[in-house]
Amino acid sequence: MNLILLGAPGAGKGTQAEQISEREGIPAISTGQILRNAMRSGSELGLTAKQYVESGALVPDDIVIGIIREYLESDECRHGFVLDGFPRTIAQAEALKRLGIKIDAVLTIEVPDEKIVGRMSGRRFCECGASYHTDYLPPKVEGICDRCGKELYIRDDDKPETVLSRLETYHRQTEPLIGYYRGEGLLITVEGQERVEDTTELVRQALMNGTENKQ
Ligand code: AMP
Repeated sequence: MNLILLGAPGAGKGTQAEQISEREGIPAISTGQILRNAMRSGSELGLTAKQYVESGALVPDDIVIGIIREYLESDECRHGFVLDGFPRTIAQAEALKRLGIKIDAVLTIEVPDEKIVGRMSGRRFCECGASYHTDYLPPKVEGICDRCGKELYIRDDDKPETVLSRLETYHRQTEPLIGYYRGEGLLITVEGQERVEDTTELVRQALMNGTENKQ
């Protein structure tokens, strides 16, 4: 299954991508995570990305398209993938289409803006890609990743002022993708729930039922 996850920052894309990845045995690819790891390692990519990520803006299309192309063409994605955070612009969606990889479905997780800022304050991340929330999805040991045992961190761009800028970026540059993929007959919509397991169940059912066009 080749899947794209859409949704505002904090809607739960990362968490659902990880769960789908485990259920289906396909890799979850998060461009945000790749950029954060590059920033933490201080690589050239990280230094370039930092200014954009920290201000809540998008990293230029050509950079993220280059990253994603390398992943999608690798052996790891032979049996499918779930994309978390790519594409984020129409230009990225067009570039993905030009790669000639068939997308089976695009799932968008809808959460109203008023709920987003509150959700962001408890988020915790691990370098390995796992994500947690102090209230909704706590790790077994506080501050430590269940999966790999590393120390969890708080993202700099989860500060309330940056979250507002990220939301604005989402509405202006990424939300048009909902219409774009509806037009392609690939869209599935799920409403994000308060409890992670409730959203997981809706996502599971929605993926079984298929796209809007098939219903
Ligand atoms: P995320 O972890 O998906 O919330 O992404 C964190 C940040 O990384 C975003 O606010 C952007 O600055 C950058 N980013 C992630 N994915 C993309 C993308 N597909 N295009 C441009 N910038 C991206």
